[in-house]
Amino acid sequence: MYPETFEGFAAHSAEEWNKPKRHEFTPKPFGDRDIDVKIVACGVCGSDVHTVTGGWGNKNWPIIPGHEIIGEAVRVGPKVTSVKVGDRVGVGAQIFSCMECPTCKEGNETYCPDWVDTYGGFYPDGTMTMGGYSSHIRAHEHYTFPIPDALDTNLTAPMLCAGLTAYSPLVRNGAGPGKKIGIVGIGGIGHFGILFSKALGAETWAISRTDSKKADSLAMGADGFLATADKDWTAGHKMTFDMILCTASGSDGFDLAPYLSLLRVHGKFIAVGLPEEEGWKVSPQALLKNGCLIGSSHLGNREEMLAMLQLAADKGVKSWVETIPISEEGVGKALTRLHSNDVKYRFTLTDYNKQFE
Ligand code: NDP
Ligand code: ZN
Repeated sequence: MYPETFEGFAAHSAEEWNKPKRHEFTPKPFGDRDIDVKIVACGVCGSDVHTVTGGWGNKNWPIIPGHEIIGEAVRVGPKVTSVKVGDRVGVGAQIFSCMECPTCKEGNETYCPDWVDTYGGFYPDGTMTMGGYSSHIRAHEHYTFPIPDALDTNLTAPMLCAGLTAYSPLVRNGAGPGKKIGIVGIGGIGHFGILFSKALGAETWAISRTDSKKADSLAMGADGFLATADKDWTAGHKMTFDMILCTASGSDGFDLAPYLSLLRVHGKFIAVGLPEEEGWKVSPQALLKNGCLIGSSHLGNREEMLAMLQLAADKGVKSWVETIPISEEGVGKALTRLHSNDVKYRFTLTDYNKQFE
């Protein structure tokens, strides 16, 4: 029991990916700049599904997913300056990095060669990290974020990964007034793509496989909607987009060339989705027509996390969340429904106090 051990809901094998069982584990030793967070809510990310199903090749079982965490700081290391006991704080998808290499020092800690994922990662001492479907999480203060008072806990938890994964590449690639942005894949990250692209002032189009999410996308604020199942779906839009943010979690049936044809000269296609399959094919000819650029993005840095939360507070950005009380059954249900694309548009696990002391 806390503070020696934490407890959570773990997947024990890929075969039983949606039948989590309670699991007790020992966190890393408490460091001078660590914070223990008693968890109150946690979002359920597409990455959690890729991990527990073994789709990404996870070999470390049992594993407790969850990296969209909000809770209360209950213990604060002697060298922590940004958080006090009792503060409401969040933890996202990255929990540690070396903090000394040039990449970390320039604010690109999400690309540190020694980054540690919030779950399924390993600290230098060999301790495996466990995520937010748990009673507590222990995190370094650089990866623990104060939550502005104006924000609602259950709506904000999913911003800690999905929100930031959309926000950072939008900002880094110039989304703002006068720009036309496409968001591909209207799931958890994609819906934040629409919300944050609009909050940043860009013309924003949702791009989904079918029309089924059209009404919702427009209600989120999208200025327009394209369904890739429609014949000639790019007609009238070729060479008009400044940037496309692709959040698609799969690549089956994904033909990249028409998406690229939407971009203006030197426009950017930034893919954050991480399919389990081989991925898409690209031909130099498809890049030649507009000289477009393809790239990716990993989460976002601390400064961007704080700016995103402040923007959400200032502009009243409201995510679309369905809450599910945490339990073996509740976690299984959330994972199963996310796996079958039956989510509008993020699940947040709640009611932690009914399961954990
Ligand atoms: P969701 O499951 O909520 O959404 C994924 C969306 O992808 C679906 O709603 C669907 O949109 C679209 N999609 C799925 N399969 C295909 C396909 N074969 N072709 C085209 N579109 C498809 O997942 P999340 O939003 O939580 O995560 C999205 C991806 O991003 C995941 O792979 C996740 O692991 C990854 N990720 C990456 C991070 C990073 O830092 N780069 C951080 C966190 C997650 P529609 O129905 O509208 O077509
Ligand atoms: Zn995530």
